[in-house]
Amino acid sequence: MDTTRPIEPRREQLGTEDDTADSVGDPRPEQTAAAEIPEPAPLTDHGPARVIAVANQKGGVGKTTSTINLGAALAECGRRVLLVDFDPQGALSVGLGVQPHQLETTVYNLLMERDVEVDEVILPTSVEGMDLLPSNIDLSAAEVQLVFEVGREQALGRAIKPVLDHYVVVLIDCQPSLGLLTINALACADAVLIPLACEFFSLRGVALLMDTIDKVRDRLNPNLSILGILATMFDPRTLHTREVRHRVRDAFGDLVFEAVINRTVRFPETTVAGEPITTWAPTSAGATAYRLLAREVLAR
Ligand code: ADP
Ligand code: MG
Repeated sequence: MDTTRPIEPRREQLGTEDDTADSVGDPRPEQTAAAEIPEPAPLTDHGPARVIAVANQKGGVGKTTSTINLGAALAECGRRVLLVDFDPQGALSVGLGVQPHQLETTVYNLLMERDVEVDEVILPTSVEGMDLLPSNIDLSAAEVQLVFEVGREQALGRAIKPVLDHYVVVLIDCQPSLGLLTINALACADAVLIPLACEFFSLRGVALLMDTIDKVRDRLNPNLSILGILATMFDPRTLHTREVRHRVRDAFGDLVFEAVINRTVRFPETTVAGEPITTWAPTSAGATAYRLLAREVLAR
């Protein structure tokens, strides 16, 4: 595998944008709870990786953003991370500065062609210790073609198995649906991380997702657990999002991560920059929140 780093991380541009959503104070009790989450111990060897599916059938809730930034924060802790772009939109690949339509081989080839090796498809990213299994629109055809395959729900699991020993964590960025691609991710995952936007109607969809997770656990993957629920798009200035967040806490209790991701323009900016917030704006509240999430994930 080629481990050269194609892109030098750019430095943060200071003082150019609105950071108010980051800094407006919400007296958050979790700040104290967060202090109790241990610093991750240094590692001497890697693998077999824990596979985490980042899933929610609703679009625009922060799945892709969370995959990139949790991955980068885990890599900062010295954990080798593989990010799997499992959405034909290829947003994860774009967010890491890759032009998906220019790629010759993607996760699609890995799923559909038996002579393609996973090592040939994995790309290094600008973050040291973090690699990418990219995808593009070709993957949408896999969803149709896989239907006729034997073991159609296990295609992704078979594809990534040879590299699990190289990583500590594999994060799979799922597409916004509960179709066959997402089922493939759940079938090979140890755990699911559910980003949940602090908006009305977000909670409704989670019941359906939980139901799907239960079915996958019963029929395909008895080891599947829910790692946690991540509150995203939180705006401390509005009563509305604060209410939704309390409801999420009431409904899911300890499953909810202490880390909360605020709504801030910093995240759309990082997509344009093609790098994680941890390098684009390393001192921002968004970067700090994803670092806390990384510590929680390692502690769970
Ligand atoms: P999903 O993968 O669930 O569809 P994304 O991570 O792609 O969601 O996020 C959807 C859009 O919202 C993207 O344009 C992204 O840049 C933006 N976004 C994600 N997280 C935040 C946030 N915390 N604050 C503001 N914008 C965000
Ligand atoms: Mg996405």
